This record gives sequence, C-alpha cells and structure tokens, in this order.
Amino acid sequence: MARYTDSSCRLCRREGLKLFLKGDRCYSEKCSFERRGYAPGDHGQSHKKQQSDYGTQLREKQKLKRMYGLLEKQFHGYFEKADRQKGITGTNLLVLLERRLDNMIFRLGFANSRIEARQLISHGHFLVNGKAVNIPSYLLKAGDEVTVKEGSRKINRILEAMETVARRGVPNWLGLDKDNFKATIKMLPVREDLTMPVQEQLVVELYSK
Ligand code: SF4
Repeated sequence: MARYTDSSCRLCRREGLKLFLKGDRCYSEKCSFERRGYAPGDHGQSHKKQQSDYGTQLREKQKLKRMYGLLEKQFHGYFEKADRQKGITGTNLLVLLERRLDNMIFRLGFANSRIEARQLISHGHFLVNGKAVNIPSYLLKAGDEVTVKEGSRKINRILEAMETVARRGVPNWLGLDKDNFKATIKMLPVREDLTMPVQEQLVVELYSK
C-alpha cells in the first residue's frame, strides 16, 4: 500500500505541532520539532501569510490524516461513514479513527507509534477477542478484548513500548492489564476524552463544500 515516505518529522514541522509519529524519540530532546519548530524548506522561518478559510480547513484535515497515518482515500472514507452516522459528524469521525486497531495498540502502549503498531499487527502479533487479527484498520468496539499473542510476548519492540507508555499514559476509556499483556476497550471515547489539538469541524466544513 502507498505510504508517505517523506521524513515523519517534516510532517510535524509542516503542520506546526507534534504528531508523535516516531515513537520514543518524540518524547526526547532529539525531537526535530522541539529543535526546529518551524515549517521545513527555504521559507520555513519567514513570516506566515494569512491563510484563507479553505487553507485553514485543508491544513486541519492534513493534520488529522497525518496523525493517524492515512491516505486521502481512506480518510475520506471515514468521513463518509461518520456523516452517515447519527450525531455530530466531526465527533463521529474522531471516534472512528480512534477505533482503528493500530490506534488502540498505540494508545495501549503495545507499540510506540501508530506506524509501529501497524507493522506489528500485520505480522500477526495480536488477538482480538481470542482471534488473530492482522488488519490495522480493524474497528474495535466497546467490550472488545485485545491480547498480545503468547508467542509474541518477548518481542523487544512490544516490551520497550510497554516500558515507556507511562510517559504518555493510557486513556481512561481503555483498561490495561500489563502483567497479562491484555487490554479491554471499556467504552468508546467521547469528545472530551480526545485531547489532541484538532478542530474537526473544519474538516467537516472542507468536505461539505
Ligand atoms: Fe514529530 Fe516525533 Fe519527529 Fe518530534 S520526533 S518531529 S513529534 S515525528
């Protein structure tokens, strides 16, 4: 599948915020955004131009899409699904993105980034409700149980991620049983639970034109 191959750190600098795409490095002083928190390129440090409404909406969409590591077609698919659901489309969109298995594996601390989570899932290291699932986009629901496969519990990348998760913490809507490599989706998040700095309404406005 096609993926962004440009440096992940450039994406953070382009969007003007930390997207946490590189695992543990993002929490260290090696983070490029901490050292050079301006847009990449020759004009990155020059005075920013006033953005049009369209430009602002577009940037917000790019930010969210990049945070979850999705391509345009996939992201738009989530928007269409969110729009068909009852409730507030923007919130529906965020919750759908959060329900992805790769996101949950990252949130639970079984991986240090969503990119790493995607790789580990594709290699078949996790069970959902006792069954092997190797699809990163698999949507979880409240009550589902995620387990690290018994044969995968010595994998360094998983163990290291479990060590460092304390730095960012596990959201309160997820229940983690670290000793047994097991977690439960206690409930799906509500808008207040999602604290990343995104204005999802701008994405809805963009796609509703
Ligand atoms: Fe973004 Fe992480 Fe790179 Fe920092 S280290 S710029 S948060 S991807």
